[in-house]
Amino acid sequence: MNYRIPTGTKDILPSEIYKWHFVENKIRDVMRRFNYAEIRTPMFEYTELFSRSIGESTDVVGKEMYTFLDKGNESLTLRPEMTASVMRAFIENSLGELQSLNKVYYIGPMFRQERPQKGRLRQFHQFGVECIGSQAPENDVETMAVALSIYEELGIKNLNFKINSVGCHTCRPRYREALVTFLENVKNDLSAESQKRLLTNPMRILDSKNEKDFQLTANAPLMNSYLCKECSAHFDKVQAMLQSMNIAFEIDGRLVRGLDYYTKTAYEIQSENLGSQNALGGGGRYDLLAESLGGKPTPAVGFAAGIERLIIVMEAEKLSFGEAPKPDVYFVVLGETALKAVLPLARQLRQLAFACEIGQNDRSLKAQMRDANRQNARYVVIIGENEVAQNQCAIKDMKSGEQKNCPLNELSVVLNGALKP
Ligand code: AMP
Repeated sequence: MNYRIPTGTKDILPSEIYKWHFVENKIRDVMRRFNYAEIRTPMFEYTELFSRSIGESTDVVGKEMYTFLDKGNESLTLRPEMTASVMRAFIENSLGELQSLNKVYYIGPMFRQERPQKGRLRQFHQFGVECIGSQAPENDVETMAVALSIYEELGIKNLNFKINSVGCHTCRPRYREALVTFLENVKNDLSAESQKRLLTNPMRILDSKNEKDFQLTANAPLMNSYLCKECSAHFDKVQAMLQSMNIAFEIDGRLVRGLDYYTKTAYEIQSENLGSQNALGGGGRYDLLAESLGGKPTPAVGFAAGIERLIIVMEAEKLSFGEAPKPDVYFVVLGETALKAVLPLARQLRQLAFACEIGQNDRSLKAQMRDANRQNARYVVIIGENEVAQNQCAIKDMKSGEQKNCPLNELSVVLNGALKP
């Protein structure tokens, strides 16, 4: 074979697509119940949108973006996440003028040039929501409830739901100062990566995966003891609302998330079944993003979650993805005359909503039966020259093995009674 799939990407094959459909249907159904409308934006944007909004000092912008010059010499980037794109679309289409609160969701592929490993790909899929236009804590909680409902209704257990507040432009600078003072004292023992972050993005050092960094920062000051009055009240309300809804959570003062535009609430949902890439999804409030992109100041909150990781967890927990689709009826066709009779019959049944497969006419009865079995067909209808001559067919119930004859013109009625699609 001369060609292989690019590193860090995966084919989703026909044999597994039903899992994706099952998960996507659940996502769409929960979104409908929470009254979020889908938004679809382009797979690529002008590079500046992401570098501006996500932040030059983040891994995503600094190392992971698929950026290229197009033939017009414009710098474009395959989207590494959706919040920036949604906010761009929100501002560009003046969605805020139509209604004060815009609740949107998305499902689609994202692209990051990371080192591939289990649960980490270069093209992966996310679903997520953005709730734009309100700073009320109930909206933070609503986005959390959307994500948690999806996991819960899919049957996922052993989740850790962690929340924190990362403050705002009033209280964060004071905290940042205290943190940097603390880190300066242990600077020389920090990992090279964290030493770099000390200058660019010191809060990220708190979620370093390096064990030594973790120990060195065990007593580092945490944002939640530096919150201003407003952020503190907001965080209290979020917690009270979660409690009122019986949603279990844990406060994690070290939860900072990787993206610069977060303000106030940050949260993450982790699974014990994911190994080192344990985050199923995360989100938070980003009240400053709209303004930084040239829009009117517009508070917003949202989350993004990975679909590959969700499927990994469902498989690990042996959860059901529903049934793979299978034909209701498989026509075993023996000869040209039979095929002529089958084509209109299959057309009629498909119009009546039955899933039909027509066996390959040049293959033997045995081969077609084997294929019907492999495809898990519910009924097999056998039609050969003799059957056509007598206006008959044989119907075999593949569950019971029972076979009986049926007049051709009664086939749809008989199947309708048996299958009731
Ligand atoms: P982030 O925007 O980085 O917080 O990502 C949100 C979620 O998307 C994560 O919790 C993962 O479930 C998923 N995700 C992020 N990056 C990748 C990746 N490279 N491969 C697979 N899933 C990813």
